[in-house]
Amino acid sequence: MLRLVLLPADKAGNLLQALWQSALDFFFPPHCLACGRVGSHYCVHCLAELPFPPIHCTPESALRLQIAAAPFEGALRTAIHALKYEGARQLAPLLAARLAEAVARSDFRAQAVVPMPLHSERLAQRGYNQSALLAESLAARLRLPYLPNAVQRIRHTAPQVGLNRQERAANVANAFRADPEQVRGLRLLLVDDVITTGATMRACAEALHQAGAAEICGLSVAVATLH
Ligand SMILES: [Zn+2]
Repeated sequence: MLRLVLLPADKAGNLLQALWQSALDFFFPPHCLACGRVGSHYCVHCLAELPFPPIHCTPESALRLQIAAAPFEGALRTAIHALKYEGARQLAPLLAARLAEAVARSDFRAQAVVPMPLHSERLAQRGYNQSALLAESLAARLRLPYLPNAVQRIRHTAPQVGLNRQERAANVANAFRADPEQVRGLRLLLVDDVITTGATMRACAEALHQAGAAEICGLSVAVATLH
């Protein structure tokens, strides 16, 4: 396999993956899954037609606010799946713009942006963290510091899919550790792609709170309902 000079193997692998994706996008440009416009798996026009879900406020907990930018349904659901598993990175700036709009509708004044971390093993398998793509793009848009290593997953957790509310909370309890040096005293936006019960968001916010973060606002592209 082609090995790029002066880059470690994992970086070269990621770069090759990104180049391959760009080539695929050039020859087979993606279409908006809702309206068919060429350019991306979802488009700004269809996004603008979706409602903003109500902001979930829990002032007594480590996670003061939970903001979602859209409902997790229809074509957006398929587009988020493409971002997460099929390397549809071009969706990140589009969805980050919507995240910025959702934050602007709240009273939260963030000082830094933190992505929901993936466990290192899963990151190695997938090659990228979709939440990090979203968080980095959002931070650039809001002109805020981006803190990709502020919080880590310290143990491997089973996927939350298929678990009920209690099982989800138990699955992610104590799964995170945050770095006090990076987060102490700050109001943080914690970014994930989808919130379902909020169990992962709450566990991660708890770790950030214990590390001295002043306030944490959970922010997701979409909010799903648990059936
Ligand atoms: Zn569209």
